[in-house]
This record gives sequence, C-alpha cells and structure tokens, in this order.
Amino acid sequence: GPPAPLRGAVVGCGFFAMNQLHAWRDIAGVEIAAICDRDPDRLSATGEGFGIARRYRDAAEMFAAERLDFVDIATTVESHRPLVELAARHRVPVICQKPLAKTLPDARAMVDACAEAGVPLMVHENFRWQAPIRAVAAVLATGRIGRPFFGRLSFRSGYDVFKGQPHLATGERFIIQELGIHMLDIARHLFGDVSGLTARSTRINPAIRGEDAVTMLLDHAGGAMSVVDCSYATRRAVDSFPETSLEIDGAFGSIHLMPGYRMVVTDRTGSETVDVSPPLLPWAARPWHSVQESVLAIQSHWVDCLRSGCEPATSGRDNLATVALVEAAYESAAAGGPVFLHARP
Ligand code: NAD
Repeated sequence: GPPAPLRGAVVGCGFFAMNQLHAWRDIAGVEIAAICDRDPDRLSATGEGFGIARRYRDAAEMFAAERLDFVDIATTVESHRPLVELAARHRVPVICQKPLAKTLPDARAMVDACAEAGVPLMVHENFRWQAPIRAVAAVLATGRIGRPFFGRLSFRSGYDVFKGQPHLATGERFIIQELGIHMLDIARHLFGDVSGLTARSTRINPAIRGEDAVTMLLDHAGGAMSVVDCSYATRRAVDSFPETSLEIDGAFGSIHLMPGYRMVVTDRTGSETVDVSPPLLPWAARPWHSVQESVLAIQSHWVDCLRSGCEPATSGRDNLATVALVEAAYESAAAGGPVFLHARP
C-alpha cells in the first residue's frame, strides 16, 4: 500500500509561510501536524485557517512533544541557526528558508550540525524551481545554443515589497541578501561555480535602511561571465515583478527570457518563441503565482528526496556556495575591488 503520511511541522507563520502551508496541502502523503509561532495571534489565525490544532509558541516545546518526520522553518534569518540546530539535536530532517544564515561560518555550522546528526537539510531556495527558469535550464542542457559564454540575470521593479514584509525596510542589509541571493543561486545553477565577483550597490529609497540596487559581475570557473543586476527602485511603465529577465549567449545561439514569460530560443536553425508562463494554482494570486508555484515544486522535491534518500538540489551543502556569493557581494561592494572565491566554501 501507500507509505504512511509524513508528519511535518512549520515554524514561523508569517507572510511567506502561507504559501508553504498551501503547498503542503497540495502534496499527497504529507500532513502538517503542528505549527509554531511566538506570536499568539498569528499562531491561532494560521491554525484556524489551515485546520491545524497542535500549536506551539516555543519550538523547543514542540520538538519535545511531537514525533516529526520533518520540520519546515519559515522564520526570518536571525532564528535560522538556533532552530536548525534544535532540529538536528532532535534528529528531525529540516528545511530552512533563505537566507540560510547571515554569515558563512553560521551557515557552515548549520550544515555540519545536520551532517553530524545524519539528517538532511534543504534550503528553501525556490527561484531556480520557477517554471520559466526551469524552461531555460532545460534548453541550456540540450546543448542547442552551445557552451554559454555570457549571461545576464536582471530583476528590476518598483513593487512595494515593504507593505507585506515590513522587516525588509529595517534591516542593515536588503536587496543582496533578500533578492540577489536568488539571482546568484540561479547564476550558479546555470553557469556553474563562481571564481570571482565584483559588486556595486546603492540605496535610492530614503525610507529604508539597506541597499536597494546592486550590479554584480561574476566570473564562472567554466569560462562564462555573467552580470546580475537587481533593483527595487526602478519605475517603469509596466512593472514585471517578480519576473527575472534572463539572457544567455552561447557559441551557437541564445536564450532570452522576457517579461510576460516569453522565452526566445535562437539556434543554428532559427528562432522560436515559447510561452513559459507558470500555472496559476487555485490558491495563488497574481503577480506572485510564479513564486507560489515554485514553492509547490521545491516542497514536492523535498518529499521525493526524503522518500528516496537523495540529496536535495538546494541542500545546505550546495547552498554554502550561494551564501559565499552573498558574502562576497557585500565585501566587494564595501571595499570596491573584486573578491576571489575558493572552489568549495
Ligand atoms: P514574517 O516576519 O512575516 O514571518 C516570520 C514569522 O516567524 C513571524 O510570524 C514571527 O513571529 C515568527 N518567528 C520568528 N522567530 C521565531 C521563533 N524563534 N520561533 C517561532 N516563531 C518565530 O517574515 P516573512 O516575510 O514571511 O519572511 C520569512 C522568511 O522567508 C525570511 O527568511 C525571508 O527571507 C523568506 N522569504 C522567502 C521568499 C522566497 O521566495 N523564498 C519570499 C519571501 C520571504
């Protein structure tokens, strides 16, 4: 018969966790048995909304009381390390939202704690799971455009992200750590390990604390160069939030992902335009639907990995290289020069 359902718990019932809870409901063979949030109002509203009766304000109490097959940590970065280490002590497989940690040593300690406990750790790094990005990666993998020598990933918007996520306005760090991290992960995913990075950042919006625009130049060990640029200070006639625009030039052709989820592939035989729109899930709301569908995709991948024992694509170990790029970007932006990266952080 079918395997017993996996008993999971979600820690942090805030803005983004709602997507995660909806997606868990869509995945067969998973039951979210318990939730945790230190904010009692959020805890009860979420418990009522999703019909989850077992509720905890303290994660330590939850781990002591519940038998769990995995935990999904959806809190902000400050609590990621203590919560992941708590899960590891209880030998519970763990998903942690991005950014895994604020520093590379913290991230390494979390990866080590899970490895020593023998439990898998996956970072909820969902952007590479978005339908349009998966479509681009699939074309690249066929070899139709040849070896890529240039890439550009661009995310420029004036969307008011501070309304839903007020914590983004008050942190010392903003766009590199919150959004650039996703772009850097996609760049690694498409073009391979990064050997050097140069970044320039600035703050345009006077109402926030951190940087809201950044331009980065990446040297990939395989020979490609890429430019990654992000802004939340860009005013345009048509705002394409939260779409990533992408250009890849290869030896035999190119891939161009344009706003409106159109992908143009040019190879030696000509050009073709493909609609790579994400599906609109029943619980999704435009313009977030591409991100929301990627949440379902990455959580489904986690369940497949738990059941089969394979390492998740965005495991903690894999994600150390992305955290290293974020750290390198802040270092380069502060000091002005390039930062050289080791092959494996
Ligand atoms: P939020 O502030 O809306 O929600 C966080 C919740 O966690 C709050 O309800 C808070 O009370 C709770 N919490 C914090 N520490 C806790 C602890 N120690 N124990 C129990 N509960 C605790 O934040 P958000 O905007 O939902 O962001 C959460 C995370 O999701 C961040 O790391 C953010 O970077 C990430 N995020 C990811 C994506 C994505 O596409 N992957 C998009 C948005 C946000």
